[in-house]
Amino acid sequence: MKYSLRLGRISGIKIEIHWTFLILIAWVIFTSLRTNTESQQIMWSVLLILAVFVCVILHELGHALAAKKFNIKTTSITLLPIGGLAQMEQIPEKPKEELVIAFAGPAVNLVIVALLYPMTGISSSSELQELNSKIESGNFITVLMIVNFWLAIFNLIPAFPMDGGRVFRALLSFKLGHVRATQIAASVGQVLGIFFIFFGFFYNPFLTFIGIFIYLGAGSESVYTQTRSMLQGFTVKDVVMHEVPCIDKNASLKEAVYQLLNSQNKNFVVTDAGKPVGTLNRDQIIKALHEQNDKILVDQIKDNALTYFPTEAPLDKIWREMQKRKQHVILVADNGKLEGIVDDENLAEFILIHSSTQGSAR
Ligand code: ZN
Repeated sequence: MKYSLRLGRISGIKIEIHWTFLILIAWVIFTSLRTNTESQQIMWSVLLILAVFVCVILHELGHALAAKKFNIKTTSITLLPIGGLAQMEQIPEKPKEELVIAFAGPAVNLVIVALLYPMTGISSSSELQELNSKIESGNFITVLMIVNFWLAIFNLIPAFPMDGGRVFRALLSFKLGHVRATQIAASVGQVLGIFFIFFGFFYNPFLTFIGIFIYLGAGSESVYTQTRSMLQGFTVKDVVMHEVPCIDKNASLKEAVYQLLNSQNKNFVVTDAGKPVGTLNRDQIIKALHEQNDKILVDQIKDNALTYFPTEAPLDKIWREMQKRKQHVILVADNGKLEGIVDDENLAEFILIHSSTQGSAR
């Protein structure tokens, strides 16, 4: 993730901390200083945040290790002020897998509760109620235990894409299939998201942030699932553009701008003596214009990554790969012969046309 500080690696998974997380700690210290809290207590508050975030990493590792069991790789875990985020290479689609992976996170928090409980020395629930709000050495473990308990409960709220929402979708998927289940779970998620946003206005700004995250996340995952299912059954052959907009690697940026303005194309294949050696996108051209002078060569600003797919490759796979690699254009070739390209522009157009005529022509 952008603007993240790398903390290290645990079994191949990058552990990162987003810079906004540091604001959270600064905010706690700042508000404590303003209310003249003694330094001892500030220290315990900061220690608690750090301890909670270790628990959040363990929660995310729970998801990651469960995913690993189903051969789904987790590339990174990022800590944000509103919680952790495990970036997986794919979203599990088999309901049983999603169920296990989603539940593994909250399960870790419950295990932590069980491990901390004997250390608190609490024997009755009335002792819990007497707990005062000041965090100190005496009640630190108890507070940490309670936080973990609420983390488990909170994450299990069925607000897709939170863990509970994923459990909910998985349960629906057994009966309704992945696409329909996602639609329902996403709608419920968005309603709960709006509820969080309003509730947060009055009680806790963090809830508002989480609500926005839920609302947007549910929407985009629902679109993602529907698009994928819509693309199923089509191949690259159905969208390939046979006319390949080329630009020589020794052309100047000025010439690239000229080509951009003079055609409908937003993506170009960069060639060296007619052979593809990279790609160039409109955004890259504009960015280069801002940062360099226009005599710079295309060769110096091009994207060197070239991905080839055969004409028979399934379209949903291509779409997923382009999203994953953040590529604007892929090359289509059969037996080493370049047949054309597929770029995000014509793919988006294809999706637009077919989602408006969905169900009729296929
Ligand atoms: Zn989780």
